Amino acid sequence: MVWQSDYPVRLFNVVGGRWDVRRGQGTAIYYHPAHRYNIDEMIGALDASRRYYSEWFKPFPWRELKLSEFPNQASYAQGFPTDITFSEGIGFLTKSDVKTDAVFMVTAHESAHQWWGNLLTPGDGPGGNLLSEGMAHFSTALLTEQVKGPQARMEFLKRIEEKYGDDRRADAERPLVKVDGSRQGDTTVTYDKGGWVFWMIYQQLGRERDLAGLRKFIADWGNGPDYPLLQDFTAAMRPFASDPAAYDAFVKQWFHQVVVPEYRLTDARVSPQPGGKSWKLTVKVKNAGTGRMPVEVAAARGERFTDKGKPDPGYRDARQTVTLAAGEERTVEITSAFQPERALVDPDVKVLQLRRKAAVVKL
Ligand SMILES: [Zn+2]
Repeated sequence: MVWQSDYPVRLFNVVGGRWDVRRGQGTAIYYHPAHRYNIDEMIGALDASRRYYSEWFKPFPWRELKLSEFPNQASYAQGFPTDITFSEGIGFLTKSDVKTDAVFMVTAHESAHQWWGNLLTPGDGPGGNLLSEGMAHFSTALLTEQVKGPQARMEFLKRIEEKYGDDRRADAERPLVKVDGSRQGDTTVTYDKGGWVFWMIYQQLGRERDLAGLRKFIADWGNGPDYPLLQDFTAAMRPFASDPAAYDAFVKQWFHQVVVPEYRLTDARVSPQPGGKSWKLTVKVKNAGTGRMPVEVAAARGERFTDKGKPDPGYRDARQTVTLAAGEERTVEITSAFQPERALVDPDVKVLQLRRKAAVVKL
């Protein structure tokens, strides 16, 4: 048998089965004829992955992006160039809801490996796997916001943040550039913290600069002959930072040290202002963890999203940004044209932190 690819591949898989085929836009799913429950969702995720990752990172060079189902003797998925092998146990036979959409998430993550892993192959050294798994999680966050909106993106980031909080080994954790998969806790650092750190760089650089940097990084490193580690990545992104000093400080703490903020709110008071048209919230904010990041504090009223995950028109918030070093505390004042019901830290889920659920107070 001879296989000829229309663009170079560094590895490939060979799978076979008696499948039905569903075709999308330059995509296809090979699936067991009885397992059609989630096929619409999966082909949508595959089409969106091909379209947006091509736009953001590099045009998909192969003719077809396909996904092939296999039995639940193992429950993982793995993205080889052009073909993602996907267990029936993690997508074809699972039930989704607004908060945990495993079908979409796993398809988006595995599709992202076409770019982060296949078109860009990391070097075989400490930190290298972050450019594959961390970038696949970051890409999933971006695609989730693009397709499903901000609530779904925030839920995904909160979920991997909680996993990092639960699974990390605080006494053994190493900086990202040293993580090599040999210690307990390395997996969540590679996937979850990694995804988050790339998400925070995206926030710091801004969308257009960050995506331009990622495109150049893949263009410069994608075809070898050398293969990049995280130090190559942070150097490649630096010219895209509008504030190089802030960028350097970010890289130092998140890539070369182990930090994670943990915010606490205390002594919250709301007072109506003269005239009865505005309210003032006064609250103490403390970084009980480590790291130093600009973070928003909000006074909010109403539910932000409806049951369907759409923005709720009755929701209001007002915000202030604070930057707190480890152990630092400051009093924040927020004036609003509505009576706030709660104060919370990081309403848009932009800064990785521990015990996020504790960084909220009812007023
Ligand atoms: Zn992966």
